[in-house]
Amino acid sequence: MSGRIPLAGVVGHPVAHSRSPALHGHWLRRYGLAGHYVPLDVAPGNLAEAMAALPRLGFVGCNVTIPHKVAVLDLADTVSDRARAIGAANTLVFGPDGLAADNTDGEGFIENLRRNAPGWSATDGPAVVLGAGGAARAVVTALLAAGAPEIRVANRTAARAEALRDAFGARVTVHDWDRAGDIVSDAGLVANTTSLGMTGQPPFDVPLDRLSPGAVATDLVYTPLDTTFLSRARAAGCRTVDGLGMLLYQAVPGFEAWFGLRPEVDEDLRRAVLPA
Ligand code: NAP
Repeated sequence: MSGRIPLAGVVGHPVAHSRSPALHGHWLRRYGLAGHYVPLDVAPGNLAEAMAALPRLGFVGCNVTIPHKVAVLDLADTVSDRARAIGAANTLVFGPDGLAADNTDGEGFIENLRRNAPGWSATDGPAVVLGAGGAARAVVTALLAAGAPEIRVANRTAARAEALRDAFGARVTVHDWDRAGDIVSDAGLVANTTSLGMTGQPPFDVPLDRLSPGAVATDLVYTPLDTTFLSRARAAGCRTVDGLGMLLYQAVPGFEAWFGLRPEVDEDLRRAVLPA
């Protein structure tokens, strides 16, 4: 760089709700780094123009959120294997070779489990993934890369779960949403990747009485932090891991690429990012 103060941000529409400015802002302050991270509200019709302009304005990269995570792939000069497999990007780096697109959601998902459920391994047994939306694609990609022997996907709209199996192969099996409670008994991991249980969304209503206490349960929803899914899994004797950690760990690679330092995830960061 030219001695300019590096800029990064999150591109979305709307974007005011994003916790990423609080997250990266905390790290910039904590490490005393020169740099800024800002919310960037970009309407869909303006994405290409914004992506061309940001590097010229001193941006070293950005996060991308709804509704741009898929569309931005067409604007990238390079796309990482995992972003290609997921079909969406969340982290962009503007470098000498242009716009590099990556997806760090799956890395955040796995790192959150490794740190908060020590001893858990994807290779331990079948994983159950509830949901088959964008987040589920990142979770399935990461679990496959981590060696999960079988990933059972149940989704309200069966066609979306079948699309995951078609994309990722025979280690992904598809199960009826109405019988999702029946496939958890021998699972090593159960992950809620639906929006059920999120503030403002319908309640989480999959029966969990067959959960084995040996399973780790994790929810991608982090508003509220302690969801019905997690409290029911805890009541079944399972170790539980909340969704905030995934948000924090997915941010690590971007921060390092933009600002040159690999940041730590700790309690101070959690407090800084927790929704009010
Ligand atoms: P998405 O692509 O819109 O997918 C939503 C998923 O929820 C789909 O599987 C959908 O099923 C299911 N769903 C929604 N309403 C339902 C209902 N009434 N009954 C049953 N299933 C229902 O969203 P996404 O991007 O995957 O995000 C999903 C959740 O993960 C959100 O709460 C998001 O905030 C959270 N998330 C968290 C992190 C993190 O870092 N912790 C990262 C990414 C996402 P259908 O296919 O049938 O519609």
